[in-house]
Amino acid sequence: MPHYISVPITCPRCGTIGTEHWCAGVTPLGLRTSNGFRCECCGCGHEGDGDQIPDDVREAFVLAEGLWTLAVVALGARPLGSIRIVRERTSTSPSEALRMVREREIIIRATLAEVEQLRMLLEREGAQVLVRRCGQGPRPPTRS
Ligand SMILES: [Zn+2]
Repeated sequence: MPHYISVPITCPRCGTIGTEHWCAGVTPLGLRTSNGFRCECCGCGHEGDGDQIPDDVREAFVLAEGLWTLAVVALGARPLGSIRIVRERTSTSPSEALRMVREREIIIRATLAEVEQLRMLLEREGAQVLVRRCGQGPRPPTRS
């Protein structure tokens, strides 16, 4: 499911404050983002896409959707693949990654789109994960 936000942006040509639209979503190839801006005043604008959420835009996603966490609760069918993914995300040794999984420690705190991407990678290896919203109330919003 794609995630949308808008962030204020100053037009580089005329200085008018406008809105840049961002979309982030998980595809089979990983995280994909797209952004676009069109100045209502002078018509200048830009579009782009990428595979990462820039830091300043990440804040806007967190404001809109909250900060999310992911923990691995079971390694499943291909434990080596899951451990490799955990190691990549946490820059830890194999034994430390194993310990984090065994103790169900949080692997990342990030935007929902980034957490969904990691969930997709881990579930592809057969792992079971626990995704939770942190801060802002005890329960995540109900999703159907
Ligand atoms: Zn402009």
